[in-house]
Amino acid sequence: MKAHEYQAKQLMAEYGVPVPKGGVAKTPAEAKKAAADLGGKVVVKAQVHAGGRGKAGGIKVVDSPDEAEKAAAGMLGKKLVTHQTGPEGVPISAVLVEEAIEIDRELYLGIVIDGVAGVPVIMASEAGGMDIEEVARTTPDKILKVNVDPALGARGYIARELAYGLNLSKEQIRPATEAIANLYKLFQAKDCSLAEINPLVVTKDGRVLAADAKLNFDDNAMYRQKAVEALRDTSQEDALEVEAKAKGIENYIKLDGSVGCLVNGAGLAMAVLDLLKQAGGNAANFLDIGTINDPERVVQAIEIINSDPDVKAILINIFGGMARTDVIAEGLVEAHKRMTIKSPVVVRLAGTNVEKGDEILAQSGLNLIRAHSFKEAAEKAVQAAGNSK
Ligand code: GDP
Ligand code: MN
Repeated sequence: MKAHEYQAKQLMAEYGVPVPKGGVAKTPAEAKKAAADLGGKVVVKAQVHAGGRGKAGGIKVVDSPDEAEKAAAGMLGKKLVTHQTGPEGVPISAVLVEEAIEIDRELYLGIVIDGVAGVPVIMASEAGGMDIEEVARTTPDKILKVNVDPALGARGYIARELAYGLNLSKEQIRPATEAIANLYKLFQAKDCSLAEINPLVVTKDGRVLAADAKLNFDDNAMYRQKAVEALRDTSQEDALEVEAKAKGIENYIKLDGSVGCLVNGAGLAMAVLDLLKQAGGNAANFLDIGTINDPERVVQAIEIINSDPDVKAILINIFGGMARTDVIAEGLVEAHKRMTIKSPVVVRLAGTNVEKGDEILAQSGLNLIRAHSFKEAAEKAVQAAGNSK
């Protein structure tokens, strides 16, 4: 789950990471008022769940409340397309109005989980700003990295070592060290999967401030993070993913190929993606139905895959262990009664009750493409999708 910049900055402020003064506005009039309260010279920032706003017109530095109102009117109710959003963009329903800061240096500070080491890693760089991805690609040694033992936390020396690596003045070392240590505390306390400040700025008057703020959270921790969950803005998320979640289907992921995949189990899902690719195609999504033995859930799952306009063929690949393949077959027959399935359906069933499952499908009279091996299923699905990527 992602938070908006203004929400992330509120959390950072609570944890002692310094942020610029500002307020959120949902109408141009509110933006004008917020700008007047801040003395007129402000930056107006589109609040969307995507980075790259600066280069896409989503960040405007203005000199007066009237201009702030105009900048907000130009953003609110529109969609912002950045290199992270895809061509359809994301809706802007709020802007953050902040004191415009005079920037001397743009640094980078980020915390993620290092998947190889299995612990959080804090990253810092002098080369912050809008091109950090390019820096990571071309000059990775400009990014300092320190792994943190989660049982010990970001001890003082870790934060200090990073702060010293940023070539700060003597006066800035202490606030930078505190910002790093406090961002780590927030990361840990709120079950973040990412906490990023890009840029962490040094202002012309020597302050260290989070000019941007991004927090992502571990979805599996939401049961103990009710306050975080309350920040969720579903208007920024993929509509079918939201619908799947509302129906209790936790693992529906939108992708950009043309084969819709109904599978059971995450491992099988990953293998399906690989085999589709090997067969020259790509998945439009995958829906992991898990160990569900209720045909109604199968109908709901097919409904979601069927409403994805990118789907040109549906691949149902089920390995029945605890899940029964006859229930999947029953659900598939029921789905055909209730809706028009727009694309050809390839079905491969194996495991528990497969004889019964095959019999249900054979007797249904439905025009299905049957496959027996996994590879055959993937190849037939790519073919049925018209060999489109
Ligand atoms: P992003 O492009 O979505 O990552 O948005 P950011 O919040 O990082 O803003 C992009 C860029 O706008 C920053 O790297 C800064 O150069 C600039 N910027 C952001 N806030 C301010 C501000 O208060 N004053 C000035 N002068 N520039 C700002
Ligand atoms: Mn940024």
